Amino acid sequence: MAAQTVSDFAIAVDLGGTQLRAALVDRGGVVSARQNVATAAQAGADTVVKQISDLVKTVISEATGKKILGVGVSSPGPLDTAEGIALSLPTIAGFENFPLGAALRKSVALPLWLENDGIAAAIGEWRLGAGRGFANIVYVTVSTGIGGGVIVDNHVMRGRRGMAGHVGHMIIVPDGDVCGCGTRGCFEAYGAGPAFTKRAVSRGLTADSKAVFEAAREGHAIAMELVREEAEILGRGFASLAHLYSPDLIVMGGGLANAFDDLIPDMRATFIENAMPAFKDIKIVRAGLGGNSGLIGAAALVFDGTQGSA
Ligand SMILES: [Zn+2]
Repeated sequence: MAAQTVSDFAIAVDLGGTQLRAALVDRGGVVSARQNVATAAQAGADTVVKQISDLVKTVISEATGKKILGVGVSSPGPLDTAEGIALSLPTIAGFENFPLGAALRKSVALPLWLENDGIAAAIGEWRLGAGRGFANIVYVTVSTGIGGGVIVDNHVMRGRRGMAGHVGHMIIVPDGDVCGCGTRGCFEAYGAGPAFTKRAVSRGLTADSKAVFEAAREGHAIAMELVREEAEILGRGFASLAHLYSPDLIVMGGGLANAFDDLIPDMRATFIENAMPAFKDIKIVRAGLGGNSGLIGAAALVFDGTQGSA
């Protein structure tokens, strides 16, 4: 049994709007044979499916002698994971009501699991990252958009059509700024990276968020104000998520989590200010797996899918 545990591998695929990544992952979350290409985001669904199957083949070719149990794919949503249908991927052309699961199963000769990216990353953080050992976590990625996934009572919350946890699209401002999803006033439209840099540019600073955080650290007043505002937006959003799900932890990942230390003081203060008394002690922590949360979560789907079954 123990010998089997160490020699089992999954191939994890992380499909993103700009990058397509694949790797071999073992049960301990060790990532190897990493492959990386630019997503052919405008070339149509068939081309992207071919990119994925080519990448999987490359990983297989580097895994000679290793036992591969299957392929786990993390994809942007909304994705109907019950039916394997990509419903509408704003960042990749051609994925409207596209049968992604069936297309991939045709070209990849291994058992295959599909998951919304926010949920996949939440699973990764829950199993092997910052949420390890906790029964209830809300994972929130803050980058080009805001996504997420929720673990409740040691279960992955998938909801109708497997689409639960799109936390970036809770509406926080009536008739507010236009969101990538087409609606107005979403949490994502205010809290994601592009909203932060847009505010920076409108106040005469650079569009490089890293530089803004650096300037704030050096005491630049406008930069400090921008960082405080961003922290407050996220802190309020996290308070709403705490009230909805009562997690043990809120785990923050994504590009803006690189500035976690800059954001956390005001983020926590705003969270505490807006949370009901019984929720104020919920912790906000940085993702533990960095950019690998999605890959490791996608691999966990494979390991879970094969556990206890023939
Ligand atoms: Zn939205």
